[in-house]
This record gives sequence, C-alpha cells and structure tokens, in this order.
Amino acid sequence: MNFPRLSLASLVSALRGLGAPRASVLQEHEIVTLRDLLWQLPFRYLDRGSLCELGSLGPAQCSLPGTVRPWVTVVGTIQQVKSVRTRFKFHILEVVLSDETGTAKVMFYNQPYLAKSFKEGERVLIFGPLTQGKYGVEFRVPHYELLGASTDELFVQRILPVYRRLGPITSKIRSKLIHDALDAVHPPDDHLPLSLRHGLPDELQALRLLHQPPDDSDLEALNEERSLAHRRLKTQELYSFSLGVASRKEKRLRRKGQAVVTSDQLREQLRMYLPFALTPTQRRSFKEIADDLRSGQVMNRLLQGDVGSGKTLVAFLAMAMVAETGGQAALLVPTEVLARQHVATFRKLLGERASTLQLLLGGMKAAEKKEALLRIQSGEARYIIGTHAIFQETVKFHGLQLVVVDEQHRFGVRQREAMKDKGIDPHWLVMSATPIPRSLAMALWGDHDHSMIEELPPGRQPVESLLLMRNQMEQAWVEMERHLNQGQQAYVVSPAIDPQDESKVVLRDIHTMEALLRKRFPKVTIESVHGKMKSEDMTDRMKRFAAGEIQILVATTVIEVGVDVPNATLMIVDHAERFGLSQLHQLRGRIGRGTRAGVFLMISDQESERLKALLTLQDGFAIAKKDLDLRQSGDFFGTKQSGLPTFIVADASRDVEILMECKQRAEIHVQQGLNAQERLWIRLEHKNFTLAEIS
Ligand code: ADP
Ligand code: MG
Repeated sequence: MNFPRLSLASLVSALRGLGAPRASVLQEHEIVTLRDLLWQLPFRYLDRGSLCELGSLGPAQCSLPGTVRPWVTVVGTIQQVKSVRTRFKFHILEVVLSDETGTAKVMFYNQPYLAKSFKEGERVLIFGPLTQGKYGVEFRVPHYELLGASTDELFVQRILPVYRRLGPITSKIRSKLIHDALDAVHPPDDHLPLSLRHGLPDELQALRLLHQPPDDSDLEALNEERSLAHRRLKTQELYSFSLGVASRKEKRLRRKGQAVVTSDQLREQLRMYLPFALTPTQRRSFKEIADDLRSGQVMNRLLQGDVGSGKTLVAFLAMAMVAETGGQAALLVPTEVLARQHVATFRKLLGERASTLQLLLGGMKAAEKKEALLRIQSGEARYIIGTHAIFQETVKFHGLQLVVVDEQHRFGVRQREAMKDKGIDPHWLVMSATPIPRSLAMALWGDHDHSMIEELPPGRQPVESLLLMRNQMEQAWVEMERHLNQGQQAYVVSPAIDPQDESKVVLRDIHTMEALLRKRFPKVTIESVHGKMKSEDMTDRMKRFAAGEIQILVATTVIEVGVDVPNATLMIVDHAERFGLSQLHQLRGRIGRGTRAGVFLMISDQESERLKALLTLQDGFAIAKKDLDLRQSGDFFGTKQSGLPTFIVADASRDVEILMECKQRAEIHVQQGLNAQERLWIRLEHKNFTLAEIS
C-alpha cells in the first residue's frame, strides 16, 4: 500500500494512471473529487457462487406474472451477433452465447450501436431477469459486462461489485480506479456525533466494505443497501444535510422581511375576489400565510394539498395581499402550459383589475417580452406569472415581495439565493401535491413552515378507476367510444421511452400508441405531446385540446402537473406498472374536474396489489402511505419528478427513521454553533448549500 497522500476532496485527476480522457468522462458524470468517485456505490453485488450454467437455464428461472423477477447471472462466449430491422423500423440485436453446457440468447432493442460492442469469440457477463420467448428462454435487455478475451482476475473475490458503465469506463476499469483511490486517501475527520455512530464503521472503512466486500459479507444486506456500511454513509449524508437545513432556517429567522400592512379595505377587496367560500383548511392555510406576511420575518412556507384541493386559490389570495398593498407578487410554474392556464384563472378572479396581471415566458417574442419587462419594472404589473424566465438577470422588479412556486420543489433554493445576491429577499411560498407525510416533509424541508389543505372542495365527482389486463384492451376502446360519443375528451398516457435506460423491456411507446389510436378511431382528431417536442408546439396542442379541437391527447407524463381541462373525462394509462402510485394519482387528478364523472383506466401486464390500491383509494396521502407499506424498497414516489431532495446513498423515503434522528441531533448542534471545519464538511457533502447559508 502507498503512503496515503490524498484527501476525499482531492480531484480524481490526482490518481496516478487516470488520463485526461477518462477524467473528463468522469467529470461528465459529476465525478470530480475522490469523494464523488467513492460515494458512487456498486449498483449490484454478484456472488460468483450463483453463476448459472447456460445448459441449466429453463422456464423455472423465468418470472411468474406479478412476482418480482429473479435475476440470473451467466458468463458465456459470444458465438454470433445478429442485427435485424423489422417492418416498423424496430431494431433487434440478438447475441448468442455459449459455454460448455449449452447456449443462450440475449436480445437488445433499438440500440443498433451495441452491435459493435459484442465481438465474436469474446466473453461476456450477463445478468438480469430471464424471459420465456417464442423459441425458449432468453435475456431481454439485461445488464452486461464485456470481459474481453481473458477474465481470470474477475473472480478472485467471492463477491463482485458491479458498477454502472460510464461511457468507455466499464465496471472493471472503475473497480481499478476505486481500488487506487482507496489506497491513496487518508481517513477523513469524523464529524458524526458519537450518539449517531452507534458502533458503525468510519467513513473510509465503510467505503472499503462497500467497494471491496470481504468474502464473509452478507450479500443480501449489500444488495438491499442495509449493511452497516450503508447505514454509516446514509447517516453521514443525512446528518450533514440536516445541519445545513437547520442552519439555513436559523439564518432566515434572523432576517427581516417586508411586513404587509393589512386593513379593512384589503380584507374587503380580498373577499370580493373570492368566487366561492374557502374550505376550512384553505381558510386555515391562508390565515397562516397572512400571519407570516404580517410578521416582519421572511416567510418560507410549504403549502401541501392533494391534487384538486384548491391550492391556486390560496396562492392567489396571498399574492393579492401583497399586490393590493403596493407590492409585486410572482407565481413561478414549471411549464408554459401551466403558466397560461394560471393566467386564465387569475384573469377571471381579478375581473376588471386584470390589467395588473403580467405573463412572462422564456419563449416570448422579443417585442412582447420587452413590454412585459417594462411593465414589471414600472410596477404596473403586480401579479406576475411565468416560468423560470422570471429569474433571469434582465428582469428588474418594482418591489417584489412574494414568490409562489407551484408544483415543483426543485425550484426555489437556488433561485432564492440568486435573488438575495441581487438584494431582494421576498417571502416564499412553495406549493406541492406530493403526498409526503408531514413529519417527513418537516425533516426534508425543515427550513420551511408548513400548511396543509386537507379536504377537496365540495361537489367534486369521484373518479371511477379500473385496472385492465393487456388482453382486455378492447374494453378500453369501447369506453373511449362512449366518452367521445358524448362529446367528451380523453387522455392516453404512455410511459416515456428512454433508449439509454438499459433495463427497459419492450414497451409500446407514445408513437406506437398514437398510430394504434388513429387506426382504431380514424375520424377523431388525435395529437400527442411529450417532453422532447418544442415548447411552442406543445403549448399549441395543449391549447387546442383545452379548446376542444383535439379529442384524444396522447401524452407522456408532461401532462401530470396541474393541467386543467374539465371536458376531459377519460384517462387511459398504458403500462401502468411503470408508474409510481403517487404519479398515477396525480395523473388521475387531471380528469373529473368538471360536472361529469371521470373514468381512469390502467392497462397493465401485472395485477399487482400496488395498482389495485388505486381502485379503492382516492386520497393522495392514503395512497402514499399504502405505497410505503407495500414496498420494501425502492422508489416510493415513482420518479425524480416527485421533487424530493435526492441523496447519493440515502433515500429520503426509505431512510425516514435515520433522517428523523439526524434532524433532531442537527438542530441541537446548530444551536450550539457550527465550527469552520463543520461548515466546510457540509459544503463538501451537499453542494446545494451556499456558504452564506451555513456560516
Ligand atoms: P390544485 O390544488 O391541484 O392546484 P386547483 O387550485 O387547480 O387545485 O383547484 C382545483 C379546482 O377546485 C379548481 O377548478 C378551483 O376553481 C376549484 N376550487 C378551489 N377552491 C374551491 C372552493 N373553496 N370551493 C369550490 N371550488 C374550489
Ligand atoms: Mg395546481
């Protein structure tokens, strides 16, 4: 072993033998320091003892419908590589492997470039679920590791850590780099308080255990991320995060905010704007916000409420408080479609005072934008609605006092800091329909106060939900006919297909779905929207759908957030098992918004208990809880879109208990004050915290 000469903060380029090309590949994947390199853990551990012989593969290893698919690991020599293009320009790559006992087939879809990677005569490690195909069992889009001609050193250890491939950096190369890094770093200071260490290994020991697991390691614990070493890293990550959050809150409470002066006149004005009586918890939430706005401290509040609970109206009232007393308020939304929709809602609410409303979008024409900017700068515009264009350098406000962020948590912190740098420190209200239990929300956004709308407005029609198996697809089309015949509209949602995602099995993508629908409903206007199209085109199609010119809208989850078309009463979700429960619930929230009852049809190959939960449950929080109960592991909120903070090793939804403990401990620590090293440590672990927030 070398004398340790590097620290975790050292750059990867300091590793001997790492050339510039590889260093730049690592950098593309945000691996800059040794800490970045070492904290990216193997995504799976293989036991060489569990390697299967090809001759032993058979239907028994295939998954049963509705069960978790067992993974099978094999090593074979590549015999043949066949590339086939089907009628529909679909590309199939078939790789035939053999060992002494037999052969096996491995299929890849629409990744023609892979053909070059598989060279006849070389060996390859394949692992993934096995599927029963037409002519026997086969691997479909499994993970693979090219072993080249010789592989001897691969199986020296019993447990083989496998890393995701980063471009040309294979798992094997990464192992080697990590080995060098582990040899070269000296142990970092331990900032975890004793009470959180619980006999856990220290950071460097933990990293060793995870990258070079000894033969007697508990393989299951490693693969399920619940080894002591995992726990050590999770605790550390969540503790430093909690310190940052607690520190940020402490700083905010010391800042002075602009106090809104209320009057009877203001109250009267707000009452006039209200189209209907607030529900009890809308009222409570608004009162909490109003108290903050009057308090003289800077507000930072999270407003949670299920889809359709009426968050917009509460946000509007908060904005009106500011706008009607001489200030400006901005509503920030993730998409242009949503921005336009909010403008329409606000216009109705404001009535003849709608001239104080201003839309601001990144994609506006130059002249239009110039005028918008002028109206904002002069103060003529009091209610400003837009996408992140609102935060660009060129926007000058005339007394911005409140920012409301709709539907997305990821907005916020950074933008807020950017504004503070410009000398503006407005009140901040973040709205979310992500059904996170309150305690978890408080731990994750502990620098926010918290309001919650707990009921839906009266008169809402429940949505009827059904789960159909793929062979019952015809029923869905019959239902579609029924809705169309009544002059109603429908959404059809397909999962987005990302060819980069190696684990994907063959799915019907949005274009296939569109083609299928056009054939089935030749006289109906059908269009599709997805995340990769130009924003103007998407806005245009959404507008035409909202105006009733399009009957069926085929979409990826871009329509998930906030879109409101009351005449759309049917939603069909294809491959429903691909979506998180909460995500499905959000999608369902798009229908049944008018006076007619909505129908929500999920199509799936599997009849899972998870999907069935949606048939009976209507409340987002109950659904989230059910999801958490049913799931042992994994991605509770469906996708990254949930807006939960992401960590490298920890998982906010699975590691709640560790998070809570860290939060409590961190609050005590921040009250006692942080020292300079601890501040640097927080920054090293979480680049999102600015130095200003934690010093
Ligand atoms: P979300 O919380 O999902 O953003 P919205 O703010 O879009 O929900 O509200 C959903 C619908 O409920 C809107 O059509 C809105 O006009 C209506 N709504 C909101 N508050 C009330 C209320 N207090 N009484 C009746 N309808 C309401
Ligand atoms: Mg909304």
